[in-house]
Amino acid sequence: MGVKKEIEAGKAPGPKMHVTGPYLEGPGTFAVQLHELTGPDDATRTVNYWLDEGIDNFKAYMFITPAELSAAIAVAHKRGAKVTGHLCSIGFRQAAQIGIDDLEHGLMEDTEFLPWKKPDVCPETPDSTESLSKIDVQAGPVREMILDLVQHHVSVTSTLPVYEMFVPGRPTIQQRVLDALSPDARSSFLDNKVWVGDSSVIQKRYKMPVSPWAAAFKKEMEFEYAFAKAGGLLVAGEDPTGIGGVLAGFGDQREVELLVEAGFTPLEAIHIATSNGAQYLGEADRIGTIAPGKQADLVIIKGDPSHKIADIENVETVFKDGIGYDSTKLIESVREQVGRR
Ligand SMILES: [Zn+2]
Repeated sequence: MGVKKEIEAGKAPGPKMHVTGPYLEGPGTFAVQLHELTGPDDATRTVNYWLDEGIDNFKAYMFITPAELSAAIAVAHKRGAKVTGHLCSIGFRQAAQIGIDDLEHGLMEDTEFLPWKKPDVCPETPDSTESLSKIDVQAGPVREMILDLVQHHVSVTSTLPVYEMFVPGRPTIQQRVLDALSPDARSSFLDNKVWVGDSSVIQKRYKMPVSPWAAAFKKEMEFEYAFAKAGGLLVAGEDPTGIGGVLAGFGDQREVELLVEAGFTPLEAIHIATSNGAQYLGEADRIGTIAPGKQADLVIIKGDPSHKIADIENVETVFKDGIGYDSTKLIESVREQVGRR
């Protein structure tokens, strides 16, 4: 909230922000800094508290119980806020039933198809990579899940660049990313990128000679394409998790490129990253597309990403409310800062 306020006061350059509250997490979390909800009443209390503090949406996290999620959604919706989830104890179809608005990351985080999943519990081995690398996306239970999400108007956030980093041999390390990272964050990311492709680590971790990530990554793309083509609202976003190296801005551009690799046309991919997001936020009448009367939030790109999607990286000027910012200068101002502050 502090960063948002600084930007709004004109003290720092930055985007318009929708701020989520701290994760709504259930008992048993691995992240000790998170508050663990003690039940549905606590979920209601927590959501109310953060709405009073000025945040406008929530992310439910891996260990939340169905009763807590249900209570959180009820009070959030009552007050006009949305709830997304990076779930584990709760599968996608169950979450749709409960009334969630969005699911983060896609098929990779849907535990409901793991053979060892027990109801309402996050499996001790939530790593679904191997199992998902073999799943049928076009028919059967996954297809039913897709149709279920569409029917319940649940959107899905694509975060392909975060997964791409786990795929051995993918050429995803860009100099501009390395330049923006602090020395510590840079070396940790590069270390991680080495073990991702190390056959002895793969053997130990997955008990197989070849990493399942390349196949699982393809399945994730297939799922996202099928979901959108079935009428689902696919939106685009990133987070700085995984093995690192996915940065705000650069990662968002990579996301659009990967959507094209997943089968979307460049225009469809751009639409997902712009218009669909505005639609999810309920702000499509002001942002998300270019039209007379809409907010002048634009990027000027050298090239034509509607034909060559990689051109999307060539941003020259960013306009916010009609005021232009020099993209090169902005990026230079955060050299070696990512991971430091
Ligand atoms: Zn997440």
